[in-house]
Amino acid sequence: MKKPLIFLGLSLIVTVAAASAQARPAENRGIEHGQRYDRLVIRNVLVIDGKGTPTRGPLDVIVEGDKIAAVRGADARPGAYKNEAHVLDGTGMYLLPGFIDSHIHLHDERAGMAQPFEYEYKIYLACGVTTVRDVGSDPKKALAERRKSQDGAIVAPRIYVYMVAGGRTPEECRKSVRSIKEQGADGVKIFGMDRDIMEAAADEATKLGLKVAHHMAVEETDAREAAEFGVDTIEHWYGIPDAALKGSQNFPPSYNFNDESDRFRWAGRLWREADPDKLEDVLEEMVEKSVGWIPTFSTYEACRDMTRARNLPWFKDYLHPALEAYFAPSPERHGAFSWGWSTEDEIAWKENYRIWMKAVRDFADMGGVVGAGDDAGFIYTLYGFTYLSELELLQEAGFHPIDVIQCATGNNAKLMGLEDRLGRVRQGYLADLILIDENPLANLKYLYPTGVLDIEDGKAVVRGGIKWTIKDGLVYETPRLIREVKETVSKARAK
Ligand SMILES: [Zn+2]
Repeated sequence: MKKPLIFLGLSLIVTVAAASAQARPAENRGIEHGQRYDRLVIRNVLVIDGKGTPTRGPLDVIVEGDKIAAVRGADARPGAYKNEAHVLDGTGMYLLPGFIDSHIHLHDERAGMAQPFEYEYKIYLACGVTTVRDVGSDPKKALAERRKSQDGAIVAPRIYVYMVAGGRTPEECRKSVRSIKEQGADGVKIFGMDRDIMEAAADEATKLGLKVAHHMAVEETDAREAAEFGVDTIEHWYGIPDAALKGSQNFPPSYNFNDESDRFRWAGRLWREADPDKLEDVLEEMVEKSVGWIPTFSTYEACRDMTRARNLPWFKDYLHPALEAYFAPSPERHGAFSWGWSTEDEIAWKENYRIWMKAVRDFADMGGVVGAGDDAGFIYTLYGFTYLSELELLQEAGFHPIDVIQCATGNNAKLMGLEDRLGRVRQGYLADLILIDENPLANLKYLYPTGVLDIEDGKAVVRGGIKWTIKDGLVYETPRLIREVKETVSKARAK
C-alpha cells in the first residue's frame, strides 16, 4: 500500500515513498473533537474488520448519527463528496472496529486516593477501546456511569455492567442474582464457589437471561462445572489447569490461599502440573458447552519479569499517582504481592505462560471463542496500554494479527451477546471505530499512544498511535485525549 502522507508522533509530517499518482494531503472537513454528525463520510480507508478476514479497500464508510449507514468502494472522483459537510480523509489509513475490553474494573480511587473515572476512560479511548465490560466495582456508580456514557454526557467508552453475585447458600445466591437483574445489570460475575452455590448462580442467571462471567479460584469447582452449569466465559485461567490435575496441586504445607504472596507464587507453578490428556478433554468440554475464554494474559505479565513491569515507558507521563501508590508491594492490597519476587518465580511463570498460551491456542483451534481483556489497575497494569499488551500476548500465543483483532472485536461482542451490533465495520452496526495511519497487522505496537520508535532519513521518529477514536458516532481526536490524560496526571502529581 502506498502511503502518500502520514502523521508521525507530535505533528511531525514525513513523506514516504509515494508511488501513487493521487498523492494528496489529508483533507478533513467540518470535524470537531467530541461531536456527532447526522452524516459523516470516512473516505478512502483500508478496513480491517472484526471477523477474522484480511484488509479490504480502499472503502468509504458513511456514518449517520451513531450508526454505520454504508460501507462501499471508495469514490475516487475529484468532486466526490464535495457537498458533504463532514468528511474524514482516511487516505493511507486503516479503519478498525473500536476495541472491546471484556474485563475491566471502574476505579475512582486507588490506595485510598481519588482517581477520576475520566482518567481511566480517556486512556481506554486513546488506546482504541470504545466498549468496556465492568466485571466488578461499585454497582450504583457503575450503573450511573453506564447511563452517562449512553447519553453522551461524558467522554467514555460504552459501558456494560456485570455485577458480582454473592450468598452463602444456594437460595441466598439466587436472591442475589435476582437483585442484580432488578437493578438492570447486563450480566453476573461470579468468583470461585462451592458446587451447589455455583449451580444455583448459573441456573438463576440463565433463567433471567443474564450472561455469567466466572473468575474461578482454587475451589471445589473448576472448568468442568463451568461447562456443566452453563457459564458463558471463564475469566483469566484458574479452574482450567485445575480441572486437569491429578488430585490437588503440589502446594507446600505452609501454603495459604489468602496470602497473595503464596497464591501468585504457586499459581505460576500450576500449568506444569496439568495432565496434557486431561487438559485436552477439559478444553473440548468447554468448546462443546460454548464456554468462552478471556485469558487476560497481560494481567499477570509482571510475574515473568517484575523489573520490566515496574518500569514500563508509559508510566512516565500517564501513571496516576493514586495508581502508582496502589502498585507498591503490600499485603494490604489485591495484586500488590511483588515483594521478595525471585528469579525462580519468574522462570516458573515463563514456563507457565508457554503451557497456558498453548492451551488457549489449542482451545481456539478446537473452535473455542477467545476474547481480550486487561483487568487493569492491578499488578503494574495500566488501563488501555495493558489492553494493547494483551493483543501482543495473543499474537505471542500463536494468533495471527488478523485473528488478534477478531478476539478484540467480533469475539468479545459475541461473548457479550452483542454480535448483532458491535465489533464490526458493517452497515447497521454501531459507529464505534478507530483510525490509524500505520498498519497494525504489521506491528501491533503501532496502536499504543506512545507509538513505535523508528528511523527515517537518519532521524529518530515516532510512528503510529491511533489518530481518531469514534464511539457512538462521537468523533474524538485521539492524540488530544492522551494529552489530556497527561495533564490530569501532572496536575495530580503536583498536589
Ligand atoms: Zn478482574
